[in-house]
Amino acid sequence: MRVYEPEESDRNPPAGPEDPVTCPRGVLGWLLVTGPADPPTSPPAPRPVDVPALVAQARLGRPRAVARLVSLVEDAHPALREVMAALAPHSGLARVVGLTGSPGVGKSTTTSAIVRALRAKGERVGVLAVDPSSPFSGGALLGDRIRMQEHALDPGVYIRSMASRGHLGGLSWSTPQAVRVLDAAGCDDVLVETVGVGQSEVEIASHADTTVVLLAPGMGDGIQAAKAGILEIGDIFVVNKADRDGAEATVRDLRHMISLGERRDAGDWRPPVLRTIASTGEGIDEVVEALEAHAEWARRTGALRQRRVRRAASEIETITVTTLRERIGDLRDGRRMEQLAERVVAGETDPYAAADRLLADLDAAGRD
Ligand code: GDP
Repeated sequence: MRVYEPEESDRNPPAGPEDPVTCPRGVLGWLLVTGPADPPTSPPAPRPVDVPALVAQARLGRPRAVARLVSLVEDAHPALREVMAALAPHSGLARVVGLTGSPGVGKSTTTSAIVRALRAKGERVGVLAVDPSSPFSGGALLGDRIRMQEHALDPGVYIRSMASRGHLGGLSWSTPQAVRVLDAAGCDDVLVETVGVGQSEVEIASHADTTVVLLAPGMGDGIQAAKAGILEIGDIFVVNKADRDGAEATVRDLRHMISLGERRDAGDWRPPVLRTIASTGEGIDEVVEALEAHAEWARRTGALRQRRVRRAASEIETITVTTLRERIGDLRDGRRMEQLAERVVAGETDPYAAADRLLADLDAAGRD
């Protein structure tokens, strides 16, 4: 197994012809696993990046260049603006599938089995494993390293764990950008696997064209699912561990709960509830068929476009809000917000007037 632990030299590789690996044209290579990330406190000063060269290499599917670009996203590197501009014309081709569910439900095993099925069809697959609960990769995602091993030497598979490194916007900011990197690098499918942790899971899953919600019998998942609101986000429901007692009851409960919330018109997508035994691969072909059926439906009805527009809008909003926060932080050596807050507390002004003042200050700073 080739495990690639990025080091500083990889994050900032020397300029010039970069990749020692010879890959067949356009295919992706080797398993990349990030180790526990550095604490976000003392970021090294970013070194300049040769963006056009890096993007050209990534477009050829060179794994090191792809890894470097995802690291730039993770680190919120200043070169990202240029990277995203260069990638924009080459993105939008991959099908983005989100897989979510509670820890232990079988996400990694299912993802690995889906990768196997997609590879059998000759598709190139990228896997992004994200953990919204932690600013660090590793940890909860350790299982991925083991269960994804069978794909480690497959040059048509690219696997990456990703952390938010604690920067503003977190994974909801970085996930779509990392997806764009894999998309532009020639992946036909990008599978985004998230650790199930309530609201942020729902948010992350919204970055996908198709969302697969996994449950398992006897985990109290049905109720949890309803609580976390994931019944609304699932396009396909999978009851994994169908070899265990209670699988039928879970399927029944789930179908019932979905029907309760249903207000669908003719022609709307009806989320199927499928059964799998991911550890043996049973039922995985049906999941892949359902993914195709959903993709076809979404394309035909315009739902795909709508979803992508919504996603892009939320991405723009996140970037805008993050930028605004940074600019506010820069006002009067970072003290402007505090000054205004103190005046509100003292009753000298009210929060609306203070907000107007802040916006006016931002305008003025923008004109300088
Ligand atoms: P994740 O935490 O959701 O990613 O779950 P994993 O894929 O790591 O799986 C958790 C455990 O469940 C592992 O020991 C798997 O081997 C096991 N497992 C996965 N799928 C099945 C299944 O269909 N049946 C049974 N019995 N065990 C499974």
